[in-house]
Amino acid sequence: MLVLSSPSGAGKTTLARRLLETNSDFVMSVSATTRAARDNEIEGRDYYFVSADEFDQMANRDEFLESAIVFDHRYGTPSKPVSEALERGSCVLFDIDWQGTQQLTENVREDVVTVFILPPSLEELARRLKSRGLDAEEVVRDRMAKATNEISHWREYDYVLVNEDVEQTMIQLQHIVGAERQRRERQIGLLDFVRSLD
Ligand code: 5GP
Repeated sequence: MLVLSSPSGAGKTTLARRLLETNSDFVMSVSATTRAARDNEIEGRDYYFVSADEFDQMANRDEFLESAIVFDHRYGTPSKPVSEALERGSCVLFDIDWQGTQQLTENVREDVVTVFILPPSLEELARRLKSRGLDAEEVVRDRMAKATNEISHWREYDYVLVNEDVEQTMIQLQHIVGAERQRRERQIGLLDFVRSLD
């Protein structure tokens, strides 16, 4: 499981998309949320858009691997698709905030790698949020105010990348994935292979 967290606008969505394109064994975890869909978002691809009642029911049925309130809306990771993907041998990519990351690492520490993406500056973050034009001006202001809080959790992550240039950051992210794949404990069949060398 690979977690990407960042304040909104630091480039996490682009990096996640690129990572999925270049690593065919990765699947994206699709969260449920009570916030409204943006114009470019598709149900089931970007999120499962649910009512507060539906979210409560899912939570009561214990269907979330983690959940949190972010920007006054509720977000949660349905656990079933994650466990199914892991059983198939896929890697699962999560775009979740620091609260969800804490819950995930508490539950399944050895299987999770966490990466925090920082913007090069707060000015650049504000510029990116405005230029993507997805949210109203007041939403952008609110997200800028909350960016500082999100950023304050950077120490809780295994890796931190400053996303100055998306191509460079992508290369660094791919290095992280490559190195983590080579971890001794993650290499299935390694013991048998080494024994066969005797
Ligand atoms: P947005 O509304 O811009 O799509 O996402 C807002 C924030 O919620 C982002 O920081 C994103 O990482 C986080 N988020 C999205 N889905 C989940 C989830 O299932 N759980 C948690 N904890 N955070 C989420």
